[in-house]
Amino acid sequence: MVVDEETALVSTESAVFLQKLVDKNLISESEKQFFSKPRKMLLVNFPARLDDGSIKLFSGYRVQYNTARGPAKGGIRFHQDVSFGEVKLLAFLMSLKCAVANIPLGGGKGGVEIDPRKYSAGELERISRAYINAIKEIIGERKDIPAPDVNTNGQVMAWMLDEYEKFVGEKQPGVITGKPIAVGGSHGRSYSTALGGVIVLEKLLERLKMQPKGQRVIIQGFGNAGSHAARLLAERGMKIIGASDSSTTLFNESGLDVAELLASKGAGALFAKNARKLSPADFLEQECDILIPAALSDAITGANEGRIKAKIVLELANAPVSPGADEKLFEKGVFVIPDILANAGGVVVSYLEGVQNASNYYWTEKVVNEKLDEIMTQAFTDVFDESRRKNISFRNAAYVLAINRILTAEKLRGNY
Ligand code: GLU
Repeated sequence: MVVDEETALVSTESAVFLQKLVDKNLISESEKQFFSKPRKMLLVNFPARLDDGSIKLFSGYRVQYNTARGPAKGGIRFHQDVSFGEVKLLAFLMSLKCAVANIPLGGGKGGVEIDPRKYSAGELERISRAYINAIKEIIGERKDIPAPDVNTNGQVMAWMLDEYEKFVGEKQPGVITGKPIAVGGSHGRSYSTALGGVIVLEKLLERLKMQPKGQRVIIQGFGNAGSHAARLLAERGMKIIGASDSSTTLFNESGLDVAELLASKGAGALFAKNARKLSPADFLEQECDILIPAALSDAITGANEGRIKAKIVLELANAPVSPGADEKLFEKGVFVIPDILANAGGVVVSYLEGVQNASNYYWTEKVVNEKLDEIMTQAFTDVFDESRRKNISFRNAAYVLAINRILTAEKLRGNY
């Protein structure tokens, strides 16, 4: 991800996407300018005690990109490469994602610059608590609602919630979503990012008159989103021919055993018998029907886009296809389901979690998944229709739809 700190634009990447929309007369120059800057950015350097007794200063960020449609919303990422620029881009994408899904939330994102593999559980707990302490004034169930993202999970959310509630002196479960069920989480949240992606993928297959059964799928990234996607797609008769994580790539054109992938990943190291190991670059370029980048940004760029053979790319990660590559894939007739639609299931169930917290009444897994299905189906239909109407890519359609929804709210508020 290329980030331009100097210009105060979100990043050169989102600036490129916005410029392309201007060039195609899909948004105006002044609308582009309006979306080029986040509303609030906080940088914190906070101390936390390590197991050896020493104290280390960590850097963290929280960005509230736009709140016209509701409180800022977005995950907290723990990664050694997290930067202010990256968090800005991800917060920008969250604003668009919530608007595409048409849920009453704005967009935000947080991050802490650490490699979590280097810290013990006790250290991670102290770092999580210290980070929330450092940003506590700007978050709140009516201000900004964090959630999990790369390398954070329900346990981390539970620590953060506990720390925040100590600060406010009362229960406020809705301040954070993606919580474990025992502390006010929602059924279905753990796999909702994957399920939302599977729902929109099925809708696209339906429109293209393709049967799910037998479709060959490659999944890059076997974290929360990628592993649940493998399971859900296999349940629908699709063939997972490739799976990878940060340590390995596994490929077998006749199909991998998904139960074995899930069990080995759960036990600590992704593995499958009868699988070839390819280089990470070759892995993405294999023949397949559906390619699912579910890891980090920039998996598909100008450097490899020409060799991508998939018919459909489902972006379960955030920003895995660069702007230039996206345009080329569209011209080649590849259907790219953009991140802000493809992985919106996570934030949709986060929203449903917040609704349950606010009413203090909790739904069954079936009810949550039905609501997720309804919201994702509507979002897919809106994006699909917009793309057909204007003859533009799904990404451009999703961006235009989202930007117009946010602008409507801004205009009504008298801010634009
Ligand atoms: N981190 C997830 C995302 O990028 C979920 C955010 C949320 O639930 O607020 O969409």
